[in-house]
Order: sequence, then C-alpha cells, then structure tokens
Amino acid sequence: MSAAPAERAFTIAGARIPAAPIAPGLHVVATPIGHLGDVTLRALATLAAADLVVAEDTRVTKTLLAHYGVATPLVAYHEHNAAQMRPQLLARLARGERLALVSDAGTPLVSDPGFRLVGEALAQGAAVTPLPGACAALAGLVVAGLPTDRFYFEGFLPERGAARRRRLAELATIPATLIFYESPRRIAACLADCAAVLGDRPAAAARELTKRFEETRRGGLAALAAAYAQEGEPRGEFVLLVGPPEADAAALSEAAVDARLTAALARHSAKDAAAIVAGETGLPRRQVYARAIALTRPSGEAP
Ligand code: SAM
Repeated sequence: MSAAPAERAFTIAGARIPAAPIAPGLHVVATPIGHLGDVTLRALATLAAADLVVAEDTRVTKTLLAHYGVATPLVAYHEHNAAQMRPQLLARLARGERLALVSDAGTPLVSDPGFRLVGEALAQGAAVTPLPGACAALAGLVVAGLPTDRFYFEGFLPERGAARRRRLAELATIPATLIFYESPRRIAACLADCAAVLGDRPAAAARELTKRFEETRRGGLAALAAAYAQEGEPRGEFVLLVGPPEADAAALSEAAVDARLTAALARHSAKDAAAIVAGETGLPRRQVYARAIALTRPSGEAP
C-alpha cells in the first residue's frame, strides 16, 4: 500500500492554511538564519505545495517544517552527494515536478549549495523562481553602521593565515564595505589579519543575528581584534563587516600619503608601513611601498 500524499498545508498560530498549487520548476527558498519567525508566508506555502524539499541537511530543515506543520518529503543535497543527486533532481524537474531548494539557514547559493543545480536546471529549460528572505550578510550590513551604498560580499576567507592575508591584500583597494562570513574559531585571527592588512578601518562583528544572544560590536579593526584576542573563543556565528578605505584614493594628495607613511614608518618596516597605508587608503600596495622606500632613503641618495 503506498503512503497517502502529504497534505499541502501549513500551520500558523494553530490555524491550518491550505497551500495553493505552485508552478513546476525549481523554487529557491530562503529560510530563517535563527529566528523561526523570519520565514515568509510565500516560503511556507511553497514548501507545503512542493513535491519535494531539497535540503542541505534534512535534520535541520525538518525542525523548520515541523514547526510550521509542513509534511512535504525531504531529500538531502549537499557538497558530498551533489554529483550523484543532481541528475535525479534534474530528471524530476524535466518531468514537471515542483522542487523547493533550501539551505540550513538563509538564502540558498549564498555560501551554500545550489549554484550548479540552478545552472543546470536553467540549461534544460526549467523555471527557476526566487523566494527572497533572510540572509546573514544583509542582516549584518544593516546593523553595522557602515556605508551601505556599495558593499562587496566575500563570504568565507581562506582558513590559513598566509592565504587569508594574501586575499585581504587583493581586497584592500575595493571602495566598498567588505562583508565576510567567519567561524567563532577564527574570528580573533581574522580580525587581527584584517587590521594588519586593511589598516585600522571601522568595522563591525555581528554575532548570532536574530537569535537569543544576538550582539553586534562596532569599532576600529585594531580594537575589535584586541578584544576578541583577549576574551578567547566566542560562541555562535559571525558576519564581519569592514568599512571602505578611508578616502577616495585618487583624491589623496601626495603630501597626505607621505604624512601617513611617515607616521607608519616611525613604528614599522617599510613593507609593513606600506601594507598599512595601502590598506587604509586603498592605494595599490606596490605604489605605496615604492614611496615608503623613497622616504626611508637617506636624503641625497640617488633613487
Ligand atoms: N546562506 C546563508 C545566508 O544567506 O546567510 C549563509 C550560509 S553560510 C554556510 C553560514 C555562515 O553565515 C555562518 O558561518 C556565519 O558566518 C553566517 N551566519 C549564518 N547565520 C548567522 C547568524 N544568525 N548570525 C551571524 N552570522 C550568521
């Protein structure tokens, strides 16, 4: 005997709400990043009306579906089974089924699985529909107190220090607020590297957004790095945001750059001083280093 099909409905505040049919195709559904109330009505209706919910971790998604009384079958789709699962999911889409893609938290595809599935679904002519909602990067951005007119989302930086610093050096000239995801294990080291490579820019560390112990600390990178280094490993998930280079690099006068370099050279080697000033101003590091060398050369010495 085959199981009865799942009832296509969801529950809010004890009321059972029938879900209207949805179009065939892949529905990319944002889910909360902590607070279960941060799910849209359309997301719930879509999860309830779908033939299948495609989840990064079925245990995590089960909690959300159970909270809202959604009984749609679930299947796991993550980096370890994606190659095997993708053809099966694409075949279901080709048959006209309705699939809802979710990740553990927030918006799928944003530092989460789904990019290839969306690409291949589109390539075979399936409709792909976004259901926007929570995203940790944007939640962090709007409380950081940093410029929001331009922002650059990097996601996770490399875990190892040398690779992380190299990547930060590549990002130093971007005239925008930088947004990183980071684990509590690496937040102190990451802040220290940001301070060393980007200079003492204004920043914010947003922890456990929308959750019980939500906290956003704002301040200069150096002070934030020192605080987290002193306090030991924190709990929870982080979005780290770093303000743009202080000034419009093109508008900085030579004298202003020289003044910053002279101050930095009083305490650092030419290489480190150049890295600090390049990070602060957004000027190319090589250009600042050449100027640092010129400034440290004894007067009268030929270049
Ligand atoms: N797709 C998700 C989104 O839209 O935000 C992000 C997934 S990524 C694998 C998980 C990372 O997002 C965490 O390591 C953390 O950096 C950040 N994050 C997720 N939830 C968060 C929260 N409630 N507070 C702060 N950061 C969070």
